[in-house]
Amino acid sequence: MECQVADNSKHCNCTYPCNNKGVCCDCIAYHRNKGQLPACYFPADYEKTYDRSINNYLKSKGLK
Ligand code: SF4
Repeated sequence: MECQVADNSKHCNCTYPCNNKGVCCDCIAYHRNKGQLPACYFPADYEKTYDRSINNYLKSKGLK
């Protein structure tokens, strides 16, 4: 299976300039290794803070 970077990039909501954009496997691995979640878990107002922590994710869902 070929990398779907072009299609993935069309749906990626990440606004941070990053070489992992659209390369979802590397993106997830990068953030997982930091105990974080990728941009696509966050609504726009939370995504733009670049805080990818699970704590921030829970706040975005009204769970914190
Ligand atoms: S979510 Fe993180 S790793 Fe993924 S494209 Fe955005 S900044 Fe890069």
